Amino acid sequence: MHHSKVGIINSDQALKQLIAGNKRYVASRQLHPNQSQQRRTELSNDQQPFAVILGCADSRVPPEVIFDCGLGDLFVVRIAGHVMNDLVLGSIEYAANHLHAPLIMVLGHSKCGSVQAAISGVGVVGHIARLTEAIQPALHEAQEQPGDLVNNAARANTKIITEQLKCSKPVLSTLVREGKLKVIPAFYDLDTGVVEILSD
Ligand SMILES: [Zn+2]
Repeated sequence: MHHSKVGIINSDQALKQLIAGNKRYVASRQLHPNQSQQRRTELSNDQQPFAVILGCADSRVPPEVIFDCGLGDLFVVRIAGHVMNDLVLGSIEYAANHLHAPLIMVLGHSKCGSVQAAISGVGVVGHIARLTEAIQPALHEAQEQPGDLVNNAARANTKIITEQLKCSKPVLSTLVREGKLKVIPAFYDLDTGVVEILSD
């Protein structure tokens, strides 16, 4: 089977598809789409993921599960605290520019261990310090806000990374300006399973 380029969806349709999948997951009405041997065969020479997810490495937040997606649907980059560096950015640029994924979702989550470590300093040994350093700007921003510091800082981190991606030169900022790409911050609640779209 050959994919027709006509079938590529736009940013808004991609976001709708993610939200619909998350609703199915929350309601325990998953379709488990695109996980068949046939789908694997269709994808053997090509991929056209409809969204990029930059998310936390946390074992409780697997994008394909919480968005009820399958093979070839999501281009997923996971790293603790979904922090950015040039290698992460290179992966994302590949998906957006080369594979033409129309949407990047930066996916934070509640009770994030990386944020907790950045706040408490507990367990910050070895290279973990590099991660907690990267979260400091978000922590600084959340410090004055009322409510739960961990979740506020995780939300702030999600928005900061979203802005960094949108403004990233030369690849992503150009795609955003041309209307070919949207970058959206979102937040996953570990207890309810709901993904909330954050205003940016
Ligand atoms: Zn986390």
